[in-house]
Parts: sequence; C-alpha cells; structure tokens
Amino acid sequence: MNYKNLSQSEKEELILKVKAEYDELKKSGLSLDMSRGKPSFSQIDISNDFFDLVNNNTGFCTADGIDCRNYGIVDGIKELKVLFGKILKAPSENVICGGNSSLNMMFDCVAQGMTHGFGDKPWAKQGKIKFLCPAPGYDRHFGICEHFGIEMITVEMNADGPNMDQIEKLVKDKRVKGVWCVPKYSNPEGIVYSNEVVKRFANLKPKAKDFRIFWDNAYAVHNLGSDTSLLSIFEECKKTGNENMVFEFTSTSKITFPGGGVAAMVAGDEDIKRLKQRMNYQTIGPDKLNQLRHAKMFPNVTSVKEHMKKHAAALKPKFEIVLKSFEKELKGIATWTKPKGGYFISLYVEDGLAKRVHTLCKEAGLVLTGAGATFPYGKDPKDSNLRIAPSFPPVEELEVACKVLCASVKLATLEKLL
Ligand code: PLP
Repeated sequence: MNYKNLSQSEKEELILKVKAEYDELKKSGLSLDMSRGKPSFSQIDISNDFFDLVNNNTGFCTADGIDCRNYGIVDGIKELKVLFGKILKAPSENVICGGNSSLNMMFDCVAQGMTHGFGDKPWAKQGKIKFLCPAPGYDRHFGICEHFGIEMITVEMNADGPNMDQIEKLVKDKRVKGVWCVPKYSNPEGIVYSNEVVKRFANLKPKAKDFRIFWDNAYAVHNLGSDTSLLSIFEECKKTGNENMVFEFTSTSKITFPGGGVAAMVAGDEDIKRLKQRMNYQTIGPDKLNQLRHAKMFPNVTSVKEHMKKHAAALKPKFEIVLKSFEKELKGIATWTKPKGGYFISLYVEDGLAKRVHTLCKEAGLVLTGAGATFPYGKDPKDSNLRIAPSFPPVEELEVACKVLCASVKLATLEKLL
C-alpha cells in the first residue's frame, strides 16, 4: 500500500493500528538478533563429521607425504590450493591458503601495502592515499580503511555491480590504491557482478602501478538455488595483462565453520612471490591439520557443491520468510533486494528513515546492523539502507523478528507523513 495516496483521516486511523501492533510486540519482551551474517546452529552442525577426518587412524599426512603436525609449508597444503584454485578458476601456484579468516588476509594485504608497498614506495610514505568503496558494502572493509587512515571514496552500486564509469574515472588519480569488491551475492545487496562489470574491472588502467582490486569472493559457492555464474577476475585480468592488479579472497567460514575454516587468496605471479617472501617472516606454517581436514572433507569441487546444498536447505526458507513478509507488509513503502545466494537482504526504507527504523526495532527487542554501517564512515547519505541478516535466528524467531521489523518500517513511514 502506498501511504501517500491515503487521506489524512485514513493515515491517522492507520497509525493508531500500526502503533498498537508495534506496542503489542514491544510488550512481549523480545530479544532477537538479525544483525550479523552468522550461520545458525543447525548449519554449523552440518560439518561436524569433519572432526573425525584427521586422527591416528586416518593419518596426518597430505597426499604428497607432508606431515601436517609439523612446521612448514607457509602457503598451505597442495590439495587445498588445487581445490581453491578450481573454485576461483586460478592456477594452484597462484593460491595461498592461510588461517581461518580471509578478513585477516585482507587486513594483512592492506598493512603490507602501507608498510612495504606493492612495487612502489610504501603507501604510508605516499601521503594521503584513497580506496574506492562501492556502497552499500561490507562494513568491515570500510573499517580496515578507517583503521589505516585511508580516505574512502563512495562509489554508487548498480544492480549489476559498481558504477564502472565512476571507477574508471577515479583510478586516474595516482593516490587511489585500491577498490573493495564483493562480486558474488554481495554483502549487503546480494547482487552478482555482470560479465561486463568484471571485464571492465580487468581492463582498468589505474594511474598507480600499486593499485589493487580487493576482490572478496566470500560467497563464491553460497547459492540458495542454482548457481549464478561470475566470470573469474583472475582469468580476465590475465587476458588483459593485468594479473598483478588483483587480490582475490575467499574462505570456508560459511562452508564449514566460521570459527574453524580455512581462508585462501589468489594473486598474480609477481605478487604471490612478494607475499610468500614476506610470509617467511610472518609464520613457520599455517594450521595444516585444519587444512588437511578440509582437503579430506572436500576432495573435489563437486563435494563442496553437494555440501553447500545442505546450507541452502537451511537458509532458503529463512530468506523466503523475510521476503514474503516484506511483500505482504511493505509493498509501496519500501524496496528490497531478492538475492539468489549469500547471507543478506538489503532493505531500502524511505530516505531519512533508516535510523528511526533501527531505533524502533531496538526498542522492541530486535537488533539490526547499525543504520549507516553499510557506507564508508558509517554514514548513509540518504539514511535509507538497512542490512537484513536472516541466517542466525531459528525460523520461529525470524517470523517474530519480521513482524517487529515491518511494524517499525510502517510506523516510521507514517510518523514522517503525519
Ligand atoms: N567478506 C565478506 C563479504 C563477508 O560478508 C564476511 C563475513 O560476513 C567476511 C568476508 C569474513 O570472512 P572470514 O570469516 O573469512 O574472515
């Protein structure tokens, strides 16, 4: 229903009804959380067999005889590099498998840029440097930039990826050293970059030779139904001779365990050499036993895909609950994305209302990601975007959470109109 078409008395009557509905929910003393994209307990249980895969009976060695209990192999065990290489369509020689967190690898790459650079002076010695931030985007990417004092430039997001006209123009500035991308089922929009967008990224001609695309492919295999294809940035960059312009990241945080997965990254030959050489100072080897468990659990890409179907079976009904409630309650007063994978839905309320909706939800016992968090410096210029994470609450709680959220959006919209 579009509230703007209602007469004054109809609006007044409706706000009383919505307020009563909201107060009723508030009175029930709820404690609900749709703030972070965490897998639910039932999803985490999917991978429990994993702990029996490496032990005294099964052995502790890789296929090529490396004893994973001991030091060594800084860039990760071979079979896992092959697996990630297949998933990301990059040669295994260009893959590094690390600890459990890809965000940690991203942070480390930025830190390395700052202190030692990538083929030019360290970023920290080049004066004010900048990163491009397609937004709405992932708050923790923006947090890394803030931490290092890197200026963030917001780039508009379209339905098929970032606005490439803006990006192509902005990289002509030598101080622009990076761009954050979540190319598949993006956080929080859930969109997949089109072939044209990927190709335009691969064709970028940045002024700075130490410019890098931070391609965070966190949701590479996280389909809710059939797969939505994404071109391989590494293959495309190779075609354009730009293979050293991209760092691609992924992890098994939402395949096995967020608290015990394996992260991986892909980079061009020059960068891989540079990163591995620096790693010799960072570590004498990652947690190879955990890598071996993953390699045993996933001998090939098909086994990963089969495993991900179990996650989809848990996640899809939750996405449907949220989308159905939006369709029923918010049509005409808000818009939202309808992702085919990933962990998030982006909800757009009327301009100037996101913070108010967030507060109303909080007061009624529902925690949402902070309004504005999806933009650099936590400032949504339109105060309109809210990131909805349906994965964690059990279905019954999610249904109540949707009621609170929809009542809050309706109430905030009517308050503004009256
Ligand atoms: N990248 C994106 C886009 C995410 O949404 C998340 C978690 O929500 C991460 C990275 C975190 O990845 P990891 O657990 O590998 O550090």
